[in-house]
Amino acid sequence: MSGLTTAGRVGAVWMDGALVDPAAAHLPVLSFGLHNAACVFEGIRSFGGRPFALSAHVNRLRTSAEAIGIALPWDSTAIADAIETAVAAADFAEAYIRPVVWRGDEVIGIDPTGTTVHLAIAVLAWPEQALDDGKPLRLGLSRWTRPTPTMAPVQAKTSANYLVGSLALAEARAGGFDDALLLDHTGGIAETTGSNIFLVHRGELVTPPAHTFLNGITRQTVLRLAARNGIVTREIRLTPNDLVIADEVFVTGTAVGVRSVGWFRDTAFHADGILTRMLANAYTQLVGTEQGEESPCTASA
Ligand code: PMP
Repeated sequence: MSGLTTAGRVGAVWMDGALVDPAAAHLPVLSFGLHNAACVFEGIRSFGGRPFALSAHVNRLRTSAEAIGIALPWDSTAIADAIETAVAAADFAEAYIRPVVWRGDEVIGIDPTGTTVHLAIAVLAWPEQALDDGKPLRLGLSRWTRPTPTMAPVQAKTSANYLVGSLALAEARAGGFDDALLLDHTGGIAETTGSNIFLVHRGELVTPPAHTFLNGITRQTVLRLAARNGIVTREIRLTPNDLVIADEVFVTGTAVGVRSVGWFRDTAFHADGILTRMLANAYTQLVGTEQGEESPCTASA
């Protein structure tokens, strides 16, 4: 999916305790978070002024921060309140919310001791025009793999984990694909550059267990919706060989929702498969009507 342009789109920024002028919301050039990737973030969407699955996102922000040794100086209620405050100030019908945590500029070096911790929350208008053409995605296979769990905190939403994703996406685009599939260090299917992946095999929904990649909140919501609709789901290790024999393939994420995959390299899939359509509709309905908070992701995120 294309990125969201920021120009003219930022309606509110909350930073370190208060709403601030978005034009003045800068960070110092020597920020430790910038140089050493001591930075975690979230991506949340709000519908009709209500952030979807807010507590799950706040929990994940906290666990991501803890995974890189940052204890947030705000409790979850204060962060959720700050997000609600920023969303209300922006007053957009649909918004993309980007909370970001980073270490400050008190120290230059590798040891973060002595650095302050910062939190900003930016609220951007979600575009009225779709970010892309809405057609089934074409996925390439990246030459990059997700790191092993001993090489990076793979389940945390750290900015460091996005470097390889950005490289993989640029290469996929240059190769004529919309996005890239990344494998894990064992050759198993992990995720795309910004979404989780599901396959339909003979009426069953299968997806890799989230051991080496981000356990998306949309992924967890879709698993819950599938169970609610009586669809058999299995979390099992999958390889590209499983992908090419799939009946349907789709990806999930906050930005894309539930999005059909039409091709993996040269292999075409049923672009408008029954289960994909059912789950996409159920998800769209859920985000429009519920906060999504009873999701099991609240406990495990
Ligand atoms: N994997 C990656 C690498 C992502 O960037 C995202 C988007 N946050 C996801 C998976 C899906 O996560 P979520 O459903 O929580 O948006």
